[in-house]
Amino acid sequence: MAAATPARLTVLSGPSGVGKGTVVAEVRRRHPDVWVSVSATTRRPRPGEVDGVHYHFVDAAEFDRLIATDGLLEWAEYAGNRYGTPVAPVRARLATGRPALLEIELQGARQVRARAPEAQLVFLAPPSWAELKSRLAGRGSEPAAVQERRLAIAQAELDSSGEFDVVVVNDDVARAADELVGLLTAPSPGLVPGE
Ligand code: ADP
Ligand code: 5GP
Repeated sequence: MAAATPARLTVLSGPSGVGKGTVVAEVRRRHPDVWVSVSATTRRPRPGEVDGVHYHFVDAAEFDRLIATDGLLEWAEYAGNRYGTPVAPVRARLATGRPALLEIELQGARQVRARAPEAQLVFLAPPSWAELKSRLAGRGSEPAAVQERRLAIAQAELDSSGEFDVVVVNDDVARAADELVGLLTAPSPGLVPGE
């Protein structure tokens, strides 16, 4: 009898403004059973963001405590704020034999690769640079100086797409969401019996 495929950790990364949040929200709308990690961050909530749902909004001291107690699978400083993945909920989810999805930036994706080499790294790419700029500006959630900072980081992040296992182009939200759902449940190459 074939052994069950181990539960898989999938990391979705990509430049700010490419549509990671939008695609993940679409995945959850269509498939409420998909489990997405809730990160801790020192960033202030945007209008409409709910503590414990979009992020765990914490102060610098609490973030320091999470690091000191080994409570984070990975963490990174991004555009002046810190973000990290609480490790216990991810472990608990994978222990149930079902997939887990993280939506994090590049430095964090690299840490996951180092700590959990079996994780699947997915890069969400924009259809073009011009489209990325217009999405970031169109979101209107950051002042121009912050957008510029995020765009500078985005350029470096785009150059890193070759480090990822799969590139999904976010040309259309529904299509990209479908592709991501397929990847979450696809058997891992190398973990499938007989391969
Ligand atoms: P990220 O989480 O990667 O920073 P967001 O999900 O906040 O990005 O998306 C940035 C902006 O781009 C939002 O205004 C969103 O509505 C828009 N957007 C996302 N995906 C698409 C798409 N496929 N086509 C057009 N606009 C999109
Ligand atoms: P935003 O401020 O737009 O919500 O997120 C900024 C960036 O931080 C995005 O690229 C997002 O994917 C990333 N991010 C969110 N949560 C985490 C996390 O837990 N760890 C890391 N490394 N990045 C995160």
